[in-house]
Amino acid sequence: MNSPSYAILTYGCQMNINDSERLASILESVGFHKSDSEIGADLVIFNTCSVRESAEQRIYGKMQELLNERKTGHNILIAVTGCMAGRDKDGVLRKRLHHADLFFSTPDMINLPRWIAELRPDWQIQGDLEDDYLKINPLRNPSAQAFITIQTGCNHFCTYCVVPYARGLIKNRPLADILNEVKELSKKGVLEVTLLGQTVNTYKAGDPETFSPDNPYQNHFAGLLWELNQISGLERIHWTAPHPMQMTDQVIHALTLPKQINYLHLPVQSGSNEMLRRMNRKYTREQYLEIIKKIKDIRPGIALGTDIIVGFSGETEKDFADTLNLFSQCDFDISYNAQYSPRTGTLAHRLYKDDVSANDKKLRWRTLQELMEKTTLKKNQEYMDKITQVLIQKIEGDVAFGLSNEYKNIKVKGANEEMIGRIVPVKITKPLTWVLEGELLSTNDKDML
Ligand code: SF4
Repeated sequence: MNSPSYAILTYGCQMNINDSERLASILESVGFHKSDSEIGADLVIFNTCSVRESAEQRIYGKMQELLNERKTGHNILIAVTGCMAGRDKDGVLRKRLHHADLFFSTPDMINLPRWIAELRPDWQIQGDLEDDYLKINPLRNPSAQAFITIQTGCNHFCTYCVVPYARGLIKNRPLADILNEVKELSKKGVLEVTLLGQTVNTYKAGDPETFSPDNPYQNHFAGLLWELNQISGLERIHWTAPHPMQMTDQVIHALTLPKQINYLHLPVQSGSNEMLRRMNRKYTREQYLEIIKKIKDIRPGIALGTDIIVGFSGETEKDFADTLNLFSQCDFDISYNAQYSPRTGTLAHRLYKDDVSANDKKLRWRTLQELMEKTTLKKNQEYMDKITQVLIQKIEGDVAFGLSNEYKNIKVKGANEEMIGRIVPVKITKPLTWVLEGELLSTNDKDML
């Protein structure tokens, strides 16, 4: 048989995207080739997300499409991995997705070739694999940006969250592996890395002897940021998602390192102390505000983002008003707002009643969203006539799209293909809510900034 084809459908966060790059690497190393579409592929892998009910619903819908394809006589092999498989301790999701031939948690991806060989011996796949999935080199599309997973799992057990169940407790990658990966990528033209971890700033190196003797930080995450700053060719460093309680003074100080982008995403989830307690976030609104103050003091003008859940169990109008008030005090550039949906297996599902009505959740979400959009526009308008450095990601016609150093979406006219993957200076001429339009300056102007 010709080499079998694969398609990976990725849902959810950037870590899933990076895991899919590892899956692709495994499959291509044992003889698969990538299909243009899941329709027609011999193997389809769902890399799933369980954070919200709606994410799971999308997977059921897509699965049905594939089953219809199977009915036409195309015997697709279907696999499910990611958070749905990881958190399914009681087998309920497995039962619901019983049409899938394979159902496995993310770290088990190393067994994929063996399982496929058993199910489809005619495919004749072969090859050797690492025994730790984090050692697998992700197969990335050529790009100036790359995701680097530095840890998986979480020890925090926020009561609403499935991650500690789906991905287990924290496992950190060795520092040497991370530095080698980034050095190799920067040699291939990668200008920006995004470090990924569920609580990325809790990073602890199992090989601390790898730190340079002149590294000024004792905190391992701040120390990692310093090491990455020494890699030539690399220009921008972004990380997500930190936990507020690990924003120690050294980590906050590391925000001043030269390659740190001018943006920080720091999830708060609620501005109400009672909600934070019920969520087991382990900080108060006062502590969070104090951290934001320290960040703004040390890096004035930094753009800030956050995540907020509205309608968590027991949330009153007063609790919600506290969230709106905290939002205004922090003056966030962006927030990713979600209506609470209980997830089976979590502590909140066991301990609390989902007692905020769907209508109230929707109204609160809309109120917060409106405040966020008003604030985002106001903050974007501050960039009018300013010059920002933009990493160009794609070109459509003569328009280029990219990300500024503040991680804002930028649109520039007068583009050409050579700009893709480069950092160029752009003067903002029309700041809108979701995009800032600008004009390209001569690259010589870069030196004037
Ligand atoms: S810190 Fe909380 S919300 Fe974040 S992954 Fe861990 S348990 Fe989930």
